[in-house]
Amino acid sequence: MDVLETLDEEIRRNRAAADHYQAPAKVQSIQRRDVQLSRHQDPTTWVTGTLQRLFVQVAEDHAGCASLDCRTCASLREGLTVSLTALQWMRGVEVAATCRTA
Ligand SMILES: [Zn+2]
Repeated sequence: MDVLETLDEEIRRNRAAADHYQAPAKVQSIQRRDVQLSRHQDPTTWVTGTLQRLFVQVAEDHAGCASLDCRTCASLREGLTVSLTALQWMRGVEVAATCRTA
């Protein structure tokens, strides 16, 4: 599985979980700025990737929650939106890098 296939799979999982939790499609400007300030090649990228995978796993495990006022669901909604935005941004960087080398 190459980088784009891996990103696409993670985006698919994040999208499915975000849709389940009705996460908003866009993050607030301060959150988007924080995502944009990080660098795809940054050494902490693997930490971000690991946290995203763990976060999605928590969301998948918590998907059966029926509470109307659940703080975990509220956190998952916000976190899934940030995670999905970061993955899509990383994918854009990857596509741009692939186009430059092709
Ligand atoms: Zn919940």
